[in-house]
Amino acid sequence: MNRAELRLSCPRCQSPLSVASAGARCAACGAGYPARDGILDLRVGRVGAAGYDPHYFPTLAEVERDVLRDAVPDLAERALFDIGCGSGGLLAFLGECGVRLAGACDAYPESLALVRRRVEAPLLLVDEGRLPPLGPGQSLVSLFDVLEHIDDDVGTLRHLLALLEPGGVLALTVPAHPFLFDEMDAIAHHRRRYARRELRARLEAAGFRVRHLAHFMAPLVPLVVLRLLRRVLGTRASAMERRQAELGITPVLNGMLRALLRLERPLVKAALLPFGMSLIAVAERPRGAAGTL
Ligand SMILES: [Zn+2]
Repeated sequence: MNRAELRLSCPRCQSPLSVASAGARCAACGAGYPARDGILDLRVGRVGAAGYDPHYFPTLAEVERDVLRDAVPDLAERALFDIGCGSGGLLAFLGECGVRLAGACDAYPESLALVRRRVEAPLLLVDEGRLPPLGPGQSLVSLFDVLEHIDDDVGTLRHLLALLEPGGVLALTVPAHPFLFDEMDAIAHHRRRYARRELRARLEAAGFRVRHLAHFMAPLVPLVVLRLLRRVLGTRASAMERRQAELGITPVLNGMLRALLRLERPLVKAALLPFGMSLIAVAERPRGAAGTL
């Protein structure tokens, strides 16, 4: 495992943490953190239970890769740390596409065990609802479908800004369109969905400069409209139906969406789409801006 690129700080005292293959020990406070099966356990509190795991189908991952490549021209010089990696599908895909992986974290041991089989990068088990104890100077951090779970989203973005080096980049996705919030969002522990200008405002409030911000998955709009119509007509589509549409669980639908999303990609790139189920943003810590942990 290549841990050389990954800077960590002690989750208890925030001192720089040095990592060895057997685990990590904090020189400042003496706390020890074990590593098992290549997963460094940095939990200091609650133990995560198996839970929500976003499913990416390959075309979505391709959109994310393409946006990253377009918005981050020096991508090859950076190493990605993914916060909330789930079972690691997207991470593995980005790794296969040549994105260097600095590491990833999640709160679910079961998820990380799956990720371990797919990627070589250092993996951290962290407390649920807590950001990973990364050290400063990160070059590229991703937060795919995580921010909507967090109460204090601007505070979290500020914290991430401080972890990035000047010129460091944050890539994130969130569910779009607050008016679509329904019981499935609640079940998935979403606090909110985002309007595009709202996401931009929160990123800027935290000190980021937005490089790219666009909706994606616009081809699902017909399904959404169908659902809204059904609601209006009193035969409301079930939330599960919509979730299946969103996640592409139905193979036939999946194939159809893949074809449609291929058409969509140039539009995503141009940030012209007014409508989509999700938002993707790439934002940068401006050079010369002060950030405090
Ligand atoms: Zn410590």
